[in-house]
Order: sequence, then structure tokens, then C-alpha cells
Amino acid sequence: MKKRLSLPEYRDGILSGNRVILSKAITLVESRLDSDQDLTASLIQEILPNTGKSIRIGITGVPGVGKSTFIEAFGKMLLDSGKKVAVLAVDPSSQLTKGSILGDKTRMESLATDKRAFIRPSPSGQTLGGVSNATRESMLLCEAAGFDVILVETVGVGQSETAVKNMVDFFLLLMLSGAGDELQGIKKGIMEMADGIVIHKADGDNLDLAKKAKTNYQNALHLFAASPKNWNPQVVLASSIAKTGLNQIWEMILSYQDQMIRNGFWEKNRAAQRLNWLDDQISYLLGQTFLKNPEVKKTLDSNRPKVESGDLNPGTLAKKLIKLVF
Ligand code: GDP
Repeated sequence: MKKRLSLPEYRDGILSGNRVILSKAITLVESRLDSDQDLTASLIQEILPNTGKSIRIGITGVPGVGKSTFIEAFGKMLLDSGKKVAVLAVDPSSQLTKGSILGDKTRMESLATDKRAFIRPSPSGQTLGGVSNATRESMLLCEAAGFDVILVETVGVGQSETAVKNMVDFFLLLMLSGAGDELQGIKKGIMEMADGIVIHKADGDNLDLAKKAKTNYQNALHLFAASPKNWNPQVVLASSIAKTGLNQIWEMILSYQDQMIRNGFWEKNRAAQRLNWLDDQISYLLGQTFLKNPEVKKTLDSNRPKVESGDLNPGTLAKKLIKLVF
């Protein structure tokens, strides 16, 4: 078994920007051992005053839209402008597919080898609740280690978008033009969550189609009700290969930050996210603790086949199990 560091070793290492210790701390955060979780909670509490200063950006889009390539190009641009960039991921499907995102670092080579960048794939073998929780804590660790921009990547399917939206300041949706179906299976709900839309791969023969798509998306966005934060999501054309539009995306994010800080939404949103995290954490820990209870486990195991065969009402068994503990 690997030697665990002490709390001060983790804390001091992170605060001094030591990437090896940061990695080890994230491994600790991802652990489901009770003793590791206790240490994690103390560590997060200790570094809390050193968190919150970064810009947290969520990035989503269907597989193939070019998220990895975009993060590499966009991240490199940020590094060149003097920022330190951390890339995290929320991919609950990675337990099945062994990581459909960020698994392949070859498309992020210049980030992966740059000391001012830090890349961490999604934790595997966990539920969405577990993955989201670990990513939120990892984000705080990265902030305490001095990273100015945190990019959180997720796939454009399932519920991981909502989880990421709930942990970031700005939510960026990558889309393609000319894929026939303008909405490409991206649900309207995801478009509504976006603070900015990128029409990606706007290069070569795609450029004209991309311009048309931009108009279509802009029109579609006007149909959504005005958001309480008073921000009109923008649509930007970009190519990560031709390196166009990347600066404009960063300008958009900075202008969003500026406006939201001035109208009070920035802090209000983060405060709401902290409360939302508390709710998620309670549900998650409650579920975990409940299922570890030996009596619950025994009753559940012995009755599961009856539920499976349709002879026992799932609601009846669930109530019975709850009564064993509460
Ligand atoms: P992901 O699945 O969303 O992470 O997508 P990838 O980053 O793996 O990219 C999918 C494919 O799109 C790869 O073959 C990339 O080379 C290609 N691609 C990514 N960005 C661009 C771009 O800006 N322009 C063009 N033409 N192709 C791109």
C-alpha cells in the first residue's frame, strides 16, 4: 500500500504548488475509504481560504465535436498569456468505457507536458454523485495550488452537464455546423444552460456552413426566456486547428466575469453552488452510509431477487430498509 502523507504535508505541498502532491491529494479525494474521506474533509477545510480565485469554466459537446483538441488549443493560448491552467473531467461513463474523455492525452500533448498546466482524467468506477463530488474537491485543490483557470470537461450526453453547470462560473457548449440536424441530439435544456456557444471546426469548407449555423443558433437563443443574470449567451465561430476564435472566446468569458461581478451574480451563483454541493454531499454520504449498514445489506441482498422477479414491490422493500436505520 502506498504511504499516505500527513495533513500538513498535503496542505503545504499544495499551497506551494507542488504538482506531485496535488496529484496525490486528488487520489485521496477520489478514495472511498472512510479514513481517506475524513482526511480529505480536513484537508479541504484547511485550504478553503486559498480557494475561489480562479475562473471555473465548464466545457461540453458531443463526442467528436473536438473538445480535447479545443482544450489543448485554448489552454495553450491561456498558458501563453501567463495563466496557469488545470483541466479536470466529469465523465461517469468512464467506468464502462474506461474513459471516453481525457483518456487519450495525445491530443493534449503540449498541455500535458507543460509545467504550468495540470490535467487529471475523470475518476473512474464511481457514480455521477461520486465523480461530481471528487471533481468539486479537486477543483478547490487546484485553486489552492495556484491555478488561475479551471477547465472542467464533460460529455454532451446524460446528466453530467447539470452536475458541471452546478460547479462552474461559465458553461461553454461546443457544437458543429452542417451536421444536418441543427441540434445534433443536444437537448434544448443543454443549450439553455450555455453561457456561450462555440461553432467549432469553423475552418476550410466548413466556414460558410458555420456562419449560417451561427445565425441559426443566435436566433434559437433569442427564443429562450431572458435569464435572471441579464446575460445574452453569445455564439462564436472557432477552429482549434486554425487557432481562430479562441481569443474571442476568452474575451467573452472575461466580459461575462466582469458583468457578473458588477451585477452581483458571480458571488450569488457561487454561494448557491456551495449550498447545492451541501445537498448533493448529504444525499451522497447518506446513500453510501446506508448501504454499508450490515442489516440493510443483508435484507437487501436476500430480497433483491423478489424485486427482480416482480413479486415484491420495490417501494415496500425500500421503506422496510429505511425503517431498519431510521
Ligand atoms: P472530442 O471527442 O470532442 O474530444 O473530439 P476530439 O478533440 O477528439 O476531436 C475529434 C476529431 O475532430 C479529431 O479528428 C480532430 O482532429 C478533429 N478536430 C478537432 N478540432 C478541429 C477543428 O478545429 N477543425 C477541424 N477541421 N477538425 C477538428
